[in-house]
Amino acid sequence: MRERFEIALNTPAGQITSSVDVPTGFVPVSAIVPLMRRLGEEAQALEVARSIESGNAPSCQKGCAACCRMLVPLSAPEAFALRDWVRTRPSEEQERIAHRFSEAKVRLMSHGIWQQLSALCEAPLTITDEALDGVNRMYYALRLPCLFLEDEICTIYDERPAACRELLVTSPPMHCEDLIKNPIDPVSVPIQVSTVLGLVWQELTNAPTRLIPLPLALEWADRYEGESRRTWKGDELFDQALDKTWRFVSQSFARISKDSDK
Ligand code: SF4
Repeated sequence: MRERFEIALNTPAGQITSSVDVPTGFVPVSAIVPLMRRLGEEAQALEVARSIESGNAPSCQKGCAACCRMLVPLSAPEAFALRDWVRTRPSEEQERIAHRFSEAKVRLMSHGIWQQLSALCEAPLTITDEALDGVNRMYYALRLPCLFLEDEICTIYDERPAACRELLVTSPPMHCEDLIKNPIDPVSVPIQVSTVLGLVWQELTNAPTRLIPLPLALEWADRYEGESRRTWKGDELFDQALDKTWRFVSQSFARISKDSDK
């Protein structure tokens, strides 16, 4: 059973008005991932339109995957959704994915990065951006292509994490060749879906808002298999996610108003 929710939400990019079919029965938290991605994409589309109108069209294009060497953080619900999706793939594909993940693990371990990333996943407190910065830089220095990147094309495009959907730039593509040295102009993100989903997970489990780096996501989701199978009422989960989204957007409005007062 599904219930239609009519959403009208003001974001810094404009108002989203959307109808979303939400499951009303008991579902795992991963069930709200596609719904929240959709809202995030609708808000992002408004932001992109605004950017184009002001003469700054995004320069990102299919086949340009320089940013797919960065560390991609997932919320816990996204890690569960990704693991579940991988399990739906034909067995040869699952084996290929597993092989890539284990090769990357060996490489990251040999640089001491895996250990740091594992500690981040299990940290008893929410990780700050500052704490992530050092390991982010070490990871990026390896220029390890994402484990789902083939011929510079994302092979999980419809399933890609929110962080990948939200990174768009208007600066010249060549600037993305070295994201540490070169300045880039990212398009603002009206709703950070992984932050919203992380906050939902925090409230449901009394755990910190996890940031799970993509190379660890499948292993992490397997480790928390039991938690990933817990269920809640779908409409209540979605309500919680909308509440977190509203708070996120309110904070963005407050920041914008503070900046304009300066
Ligand atoms: S999931 Fe896809 S879009 Fe995201 S980093 Fe990997 S290849 Fe790139």
